Amino acid sequence: MTSVSASGQNYAIARRGIMLVLSSPSGAGKSTIARTLLESDPRFSLSVSVTTRKRRASEIDGVHYRFIDRSEFEHLRSAGALLEWAEVHGNFYGTPRAAAEKAMRDGRDMLFDIDYQGALQLQKQAKADIVSIFILPPSMAELKTRLLRRAEDSGETIAVRLKNAKVEIERWRDYDYVVVNDDLNHAYSAVQAIITAERLRRDRQPGLFDFTEQLLGEEVA
Ligand code: ADP
Ligand code: 5GP
Repeated sequence: MTSVSASGQNYAIARRGIMLVLSSPSGAGKSTIARTLLESDPRFSLSVSVTTRKRRASEIDGVHYRFIDRSEFEHLRSAGALLEWAEVHGNFYGTPRAAAEKAMRDGRDMLFDIDYQGALQLQKQAKADIVSIFILPPSMAELKTRLLRRAEDSGETIAVRLKNAKVEIERWRDYDYVVVNDDLNHAYSAVQAIITAERLRRDRQPGLFDFTEQLLGEEVA
């Protein structure tokens, strides 16, 4: 079935999934929320980014990121294999194009854990499909506590991330939704509510054409 998106493009599929963009300053809890979502909602898959950052002890290559060196990153970028890319906290990150486009062709929902620069690039390319959520910490003191408690980055790295947090927080207006991650359960419920509502949008339910036709054709005694 061919459906027409809000941007007027024709897609030879019945349903186009949501491209859910989650961003936050480092340490606000976006990866924790993303992990919970991926574990509890099988319709979502994670867009696994490539990065030149060093792997953290808890991370698995190919699961959390694909860890590559600078020259491979530059090769992917110049070959057009990245849907978006950015330099964040002194490292390069990018979204592989092929996996994201396949998920969208198959009508699956995809989660993008990317920064505000990447979010803006995706919004330009796929406005009708993007749902963007910005996660804020309840305070800067709590943000620092979380970065220290995570204990996976050096003191120097944490200092860079805290300094950059203010620049990132200033981008909150670029997002569709903003969630303050004070209590994790509340924040996760808010994210779930956003997803539920976005899935109910009329233009994400092309099956309504047939369903309403059927309702209108039904005779009741
Ligand atoms: P980000 O992906 O935004 O950099 P993480 O998800 O890695 O942040 O979270 C940073 C740290 O804060 C982790 O140790 C995580 O367990 C913790 N954390 C996340 N959300 C909360 C919360 N609501 N309350 C307390 N700690 C939290
Ligand atoms: P971290 O090093 O803590 O995993 O991520 C640092 C920042 O880079 C986070 O804000 C994260 O969302 C962002 N990031 C991760 N992958 C990508 C990506 O593919 N593109 C962009 N633009 N940002 C990314």
